[in-house]
Amino acid sequence: MLQPSKITPQDLGEELAKIIPGKDPELSVTIKRIPVSQMDLSGRIIPVCEPTLGGREAEYLVDCVESNWISSAGKYIPAFEEKFAAECGCAYGVACLNGTIALHLALAALGLEAGDEVILPAFTMIATINAVTYTGATPILIDSEPATWNMDVQQLADKITPKTKVIMPVHTYGHPVDMDPLMELAERHNIFVLEDAAESHGAEYKNRRTGGLGHAGSFSFYANKIITTGEGGMITTNNPEFAALTENLRDHAFSEERHFWHKYVGFNYRMTNLQAAVGLAQVEQLPQFIESRRANAALYTRLLREIHGIITPPEASWVKNVFWMYGILVQDEFGMTRDQLRAFLAMHGIETRTFFIPMHVQPIYYEKFKGQRYPVAEMLCQRGFYLPSASSLTELQIRYVVDMVQQAHVESMKK
Ligand SMILES: *Cc1c(COP(=O)(O)O)cnc(C)c1O
Repeated sequence: MLQPSKITPQDLGEELAKIIPGKDPELSVTIKRIPVSQMDLSGRIIPVCEPTLGGREAEYLVDCVESNWISSAGKYIPAFEEKFAAECGCAYGVACLNGTIALHLALAALGLEAGDEVILPAFTMIATINAVTYTGATPILIDSEPATWNMDVQQLADKITPKTKVIMPVHTYGHPVDMDPLMELAERHNIFVLEDAAESHGAEYKNRRTGGLGHAGSFSFYANKIITTGEGGMITTNNPEFAALTENLRDHAFSEERHFWHKYVGFNYRMTNLQAAVGLAQVEQLPQFIESRRANAALYTRLLREIHGIITPPEASWVKNVFWMYGILVQDEFGMTRDQLRAFLAMHGIETRTFFIPMHVQPIYYEKFKGQRYPVAEMLCQRGFYLPSASSLTELQIRYVVDMVQQAHVESMKK
């Protein structure tokens, strides 16, 4: 039977062991300390993220049930695909079960095999690299750039070899990658670009939406993503052949010639009409969600900038960040470590989450990347975490969170 990796943080060596975050602090269920402004926030924690189901979700779901269309055929699937793809500036959308599967489906359609190389950032969520692993191809890591926390496109050229088949930029926490130089390199070397846009619904690079910047994009609609279908994912593309192939592979690769006749190893990665019904209601609200997230981030940044030792999230002049998660970095000058600050916030009913742990120090990938170092990814892992980031966050909640960060700073300076 499958055995887990036995690598522990200590096995990584002293330098890397110290970037690995501690366990999540226990959340106090009630908000104990109400700030001076007498805000009424008591009795409820502020979650790090939650879905906003404020539109026609229930109405569309009832329609599915009343019309008896609850499986993977029905009108909501094409309606959701069309509307979401259009939001990305794409002609085609192929909905599927979740974001990991969207990545796998796209890579499977490229026919990757052992020996092929796929370049992706060291600083990402585990699904990006796992999707590569499922195909048997070799993942090649690249460090982040300090300015945007994204894949450092300047380091790409050195990583490209004759075996490189795919580059997977990840628009981390909603900030688009610098795609122009990336695409130029990819075109020159005939490499397919699959954007992992799971965190960047509606984000813009030079006025163009993510998901439509590479040869294909992949989205997640997990409950904490900017729009959700509970579980769900979608491939977006302008390439009709790629859209048709992924659509076919998602449904067991049934052939058009005759039923039960299969010319590829396909998958059952189909989305249900129920998921798509929620998705359509969600995508109708996407413009509001983007607006709220940007306004929330602007308020956070304005208030947090006053606090010594806190670095607020980036927004390059050429992008529109959608702040899927509002991430901050804790510098030594703050007076507390990241983990200590998280514990302080948890005590006051504020849920937070640490940044990703980079791929080269993951127990399952440690042997593969042994000896490789990605200093920016490591720094982000050591210092970063995100504050509550839901679209539904109120101004009061944001002010309370910032007040508590300020209070932690003041207390640590007294010591
Ligand atoms: C959420 C996420 C995924 C995976 O999406 P699921 O729907 O949870 O499978 C993939 N990549 C990135 C960067 C993500 O944030």
